[in-house]
Amino acid sequence: MTIKYQIQLLWQNMVTTRWRNNLTNSQMPRSNVTKSFVKENGLTVFTILGVLVGGSVGLLLKNNTGPWTPREIMYVSFPGELFLRMLKCLIVPLLVSSITSAIGSLDLSMSGKIATRAIVYYFITTVCAVILGIMLVTAIKPGKVGEKDLIDEIITEDVEKNTKVLTPDTLMDLVRNMFTDNIVQTTMYQYRTELSLPKNNTDPNLPLELYVIKGKQKEGSNVLGLVMFSIVLGTTIGRMREKGKILQDFFECLSDAMMIITSWVIWLSPIGVGFLITGKILEMKSLGMVVQQLGWYFLTVMLGLFLHGFGTIAVLFFLGTRKLPYRFVAKLSQVLATAFGTGSSSATMPVTIKCLDGMGIDPRVTRFVIPVGATINMDGTALYEAVAALFIAQYRKVYYSFGTIVAVSITATAASIGAAGIPQAGLVTMVMVLDTVGLPAKDVSLIIAVDWLLDRFRTTINVMCDSLGTILVNHLSKNDISKIDRHHAHDPHELEELGTSNGGDFKE
Ligand code: ASP
Repeated sequence: MTIKYQIQLLWQNMVTTRWRNNLTNSQMPRSNVTKSFVKENGLTVFTILGVLVGGSVGLLLKNNTGPWTPREIMYVSFPGELFLRMLKCLIVPLLVSSITSAIGSLDLSMSGKIATRAIVYYFITTVCAVILGIMLVTAIKPGKVGEKDLIDEIITEDVEKNTKVLTPDTLMDLVRNMFTDNIVQTTMYQYRTELSLPKNNTDPNLPLELYVIKGKQKEGSNVLGLVMFSIVLGTTIGRMREKGKILQDFFECLSDAMMIITSWVIWLSPIGVGFLITGKILEMKSLGMVVQQLGWYFLTVMLGLFLHGFGTIAVLFFLGTRKLPYRFVAKLSQVLATAFGTGSSSATMPVTIKCLDGMGIDPRVTRFVIPVGATINMDGTALYEAVAALFIAQYRKVYYSFGTIVAVSITATAASIGAAGIPQAGLVTMVMVLDTVGLPAKDVSLIIAVDWLLDRFRTTINVMCDSLGTILVNHLSKNDISKIDRHHAHDPHELEELGTSNGGDFKE
C-alpha cells in the first residue's frame, strides 16, 4: 500500500466517522443509537461477558462437582486452546512484517525518534513499576503479616530446569537471543544456557560456577531476536529507497493480510476467552486455602498493579498528552479482556494492533511500538518480580540491605525484559531476582499457587501500558510524521486538501 493510498484510506475513514458521529448526535433515533452501540461494541461486550461467564461457570463447576481429572479439564479448555493457537500462529508473521514495514516506510531519523520515545517511555514506566512494588512490599510486609506456613509446591519441569543457572548466564542469554545466528531457527527456538554436573561428579553441593556449561535450543520463538532482525531489515529497506520497494510492498501486504485474519479470529474471543478461564479455574487448587496462605502477597501485587496502571501511567500519559487515559482504556476493553483470558502479551498483540488502528493511531507507530512493547515492556511483570522476591525474603527471614533493594530493582527490570510474552514466563525469569536476594531458585515454588491468577492481571497491565504508550508516542510524534508525509507527497498541498495535516492524531 503506497503512502498516498494510506492517506486516502485515512481520509475516507475520517469522513465516514465524522458523518456517523454527526448522525448519532443529532438525527439518529434512540433505538438506532442503541443498535449502533451494540454493533460497534458488541464484540467487546461479549468478550467481557465471556470472562465473567467463564469465571462463574468455572467456580460453579469447581464447587459443585467432584475433582476434575486433567483429561476432563483438557476437554473443557479445548475451544479456548484452539482460539489461543490461532492467535499464536499470527505472532511471528505479524511481528516481522509489522516492524519491518513500519520502519521501512519511515526515514531513519524518524524511526530513531519514534524508537527513542518508545524506549524512554518503556524504561521510565518499568522503573516506576519496580520502585512502586518495592515501596509496597516494604510497607505492607506481606511476608511477615498474617502468613501461615507456606506449602512448597512441586515446581514444574520448566522452572526446575531454570533453577540451575547463574544470573550472568541469564543476562548473557538475553543478549545472545537478541543477536540471533540463524533467522529460521529463531522463529522456533531460543538459546538457553544449561548447567550440568561434570562427569563422574555427583556432589549435589558443588558450586554452580564449577558446573559444565552447555548451550541448548529451547522450544518457543525467540521474539527478541525477531524484533532486532526486523528493525535492522526495515532500516535497510528504508535506506534502499526505490530498490527496496518490492520488499517494502511485500511486508506491508503481509502485515495487512495478518490483520485481516486477526479480524476473523477476534470474533471467537468471547468463546475462546470464556473456555480458557473455565479450564484454568478447574485446574486450580482450593481457592480458600490459597487465599489464606498467600492473601497478603496477592493483595500487595494487585494493589501495585492497580496503582501503577491507573496512577503512574495515567500521570505520565496526562503529562505527555494533556488528556486523561481512562476513555482510551475503556476503548481498549476488548484488548484487556483478551490479555486477561490468554495471559499472553504476544498472543494479544494482533488484537491490540487492530484496536489501535480503529482508534485512529498512525499504523506506522502502532506496528513498530506494539510488537516491541509486547516483547520487552512488561511493567506488571517487573512489579510482580520485585514484590515476589522481597516477599519470599521476608518469609524466609533473610535480611536485605538498601544495596540489595537496588540490585533487586535492576534484576527485576532485566527479568521483565527477558520474560517472554507467554503465560507465567515471569515465574521463570524470577530465578535471577531471587538469586540477587541470596535465595535458592526453587523458592519460586512458594508462590506458584497464585501465580496463574496474578499472571492474568499482570498481563492485562502489561498490555494496557504498551497500548497507552503507543497513543502517547503517536501524539508526541505527530508533527514529525506530518513533516515526513508532506515531504513524501508529490504535491505539498495535497495533504492539507485531504485533511490529514494533523499528522494522524488520535480520535477520542
Ligand atoms: N504472561 C505475561 C505476559 O505475557 C508475562 C509474565 O509476567 O509472566 O505479558
